[in-house]
Amino acid sequence: MDKQMLIKQYPQIKDLMAKRPIVWRNPDYGKTAKLPLSQAQIFDAVARWERFAPYLEKAFPETVATHGVIESPLVHIDRMQAAWEMLNRQSLMGQMYLKADSELPVSGSIKSRGGIYEVLKFAETVAMERTDLTYMDDYGILATPRYHNLFSQYSVIVASTGNLALSVGIAAASFGFKTTVYMSHDAREWKKARLRAGGVTVKEFAMDFSSVIPLAREAAKADPHCHFVDDEGSTDLFLGYAVAAVRLQAQLKQQEIKLDADHPVVVYLPAGVGGSPSGVAFGLKMIMGANIHPVFCEPVHVPSVTLGMMTKLNHRISVQDIGLDGLTAADGLAVSRPSRIAGKIMRTLLLGSVTFNDDDLFTYVSELIDTQKLTVEPSAAAGFTAIKPLMTVFPQFAGPNVTHIVWATGGEMMPTSERQLDYQRGVDLLAERL
Ligand SMILES: *Cc1c(COP(=O)(O)O)cnc(C)c1O
Repeated sequence: MDKQMLIKQYPQIKDLMAKRPIVWRNPDYGKTAKLPLSQAQIFDAVARWERFAPYLEKAFPETVATHGVIESPLVHIDRMQAAWEMLNRQSLMGQMYLKADSELPVSGSIKSRGGIYEVLKFAETVAMERTDLTYMDDYGILATPRYHNLFSQYSVIVASTGNLALSVGIAAASFGFKTTVYMSHDAREWKKARLRAGGVTVKEFAMDFSSVIPLAREAAKADPHCHFVDDEGSTDLFLGYAVAAVRLQAQLKQQEIKLDADHPVVVYLPAGVGGSPSGVAFGLKMIMGANIHPVFCEPVHVPSVTLGMMTKLNHRISVQDIGLDGLTAADGLAVSRPSRIAGKIMRTLLLGSVTFNDDDLFTYVSELIDTQKLTVEPSAAAGFTAIKPLMTVFPQFAGPNVTHIVWATGGEMMPTSERQLDYQRGVDLLAERL
């Protein structure tokens, strides 16, 4: 990796190295490209979720009210918008919304989309191979002892910074799969405890997530009855996330939020390995087209997806290659090397990305609690940091007809003590500013 060459070609790398927040404008946005995944595959995933709804209703009683549908609300956060305007000393002419994946059933994070979907697909594959299950059957039957015994002959392995482990671990254990999660240094104690309590084997490693993944992949290879959930390159995870777009399209209509050339929608997605934001963004573009604009948000210490896309080296470059430490208080975003598929698929679909200082997350976490009584984890507040810099670089999105959707990626399962610490950190930072 010749750093000087890279800087010459992509001058913004100098800012990344200096941990200065940047807005990266994707030069290939909107160009035509042949994509490896299609809209039809999103609808295939939609249908699979529907087949499994009777199972989910049985396995996860919290989904009874929605008949086995795992979805989050889209919330108009006008009081938060007012607080944002005070903090940024600027009025936001458009409207601010929160896509509250922090409230998604089962894992309380965006990982309920991809992680659970991949487990459903594996369970369906095993059931189709080993039993007389048909696609027209009531999949509620998969929650019976007969199937539980079958699934217990199989195992699932996943590596995770925390939330993916929760969603895959809880979903896989519900079927009876033997489940092992490989966790990186930044994974929280409460997440490990919660998984162990659910019968999941937790292996801990004092390493960065990017180093843990190959260990998990190797372990899975050794066992032919084992399914490895590959956060760095799984298309199943990706499609599970993409289904969000079909649901969001309906929510925009229900709430009478316009989406056309004169009423663009900008969607702010926090990026770790890049899988969940890319899956969602891919879905948004495939389902809603040219007037919805995805933006990624990353910590200044870990701009891995931005660096990969900017240099087009994608997973072949890590933030350590440009001298960054890859450390952040935003668990979930502490991933030094991006996914193998995210940057490639996003090349023409991503408007750009914005990097932020960790401290700003906490001020928004506490403002969101004070104004809307909504609790999110620090990573999930990343979108709030990106709106102002984005509008500066893209003035076409600063107008009154623009809808800004901050994708709140997680938080519901956080223990109260943890929430209070994050809240207090935000309050202290706000006090310093005044
Ligand atoms: C996983 C996660 C992200 C980022 O998703 P990636 O697929 O790693 O890019 C963002 N926020 C939260 C809360 C997460 O759990």
